[in-house]
Amino acid sequence: MELDATQLKKWMELFSKKITANEKYLCELDAPIGDSDHGFNMKRGMDAVVTKLNSAPDELTICLKTIAMALISTVGGASGPLYGTAFLEMAKESQKSNNIVDLLEAALAGIKKRGGATIGDKTMVDVWSVVIEAIKEDALTTEKIEAAVLATKDMIAKKGRASYLGERSINHIDPGSQSSGYLFESLLEVINN
Ligand code: ADP
Ligand code: MG
Ligand code: MG
Repeated sequence: MELDATQLKKWMELFSKKITANEKYLCELDAPIGDSDHGFNMKRGMDAVVTKLNSAPDELTICLKTIAMALISTVGGASGPLYGTAFLEMAKESQKSNNIVDLLEAALAGIKKRGGATIGDKTMVDVWSVVIEAIKEDALTTEKIEAAVLATKDMIAKKGRASYLGERSINHIDPGSQSSGYLFESLLEVINN
């Protein structure tokens, strides 16, 4: 499966809409195990992404780089550099391949390198990992994405603010995993159309 600039723009529009609709919910998820700002951070970032993409040419690498820069410069907190790195790595990879799996694998490698998290640490890495494996098997569904987000509830946070809580981080969905869930539900809508 390949990704072109038109699909990427559509993907970001859908993601931005989901972030706007769930801004409050993402902040609520961040309240017990963080600092209640994840929805606000992502809303500010995705508003900037959509504005910048409106005037970007339909060229995959340029659009991916535009998204990365908008996220890095506007999203405060841990999630900004991490999502920013993801899109920057996709921009680099897009010069070699526009295959969705190749792009997402490059992105995930960047997130892991930047944040040092691995599977099971209760971060967005948990959702990204499940999603990439599912796409490889051509088996990505909304249900699978939602299950991956929900699976973070039972985990003990090992990275980011939530890790300060240790075992008390159990029983809460990871906010960055939820926003990544919206990212991939949006991608699924683009792929299926
Ligand atoms: P902050 O914690 O700085 O307020 P946000 O609330 O915007 O930033 O984002 C928190 C989310 O970022 C977490 O829910 C988690 O998914 C993700 N995150 C935090 N640290 C890491 C890390 N080291 N690696 C991967 N993801 C991380
Ligand atoms: Mg936060
Ligand atoms: Mg914060």
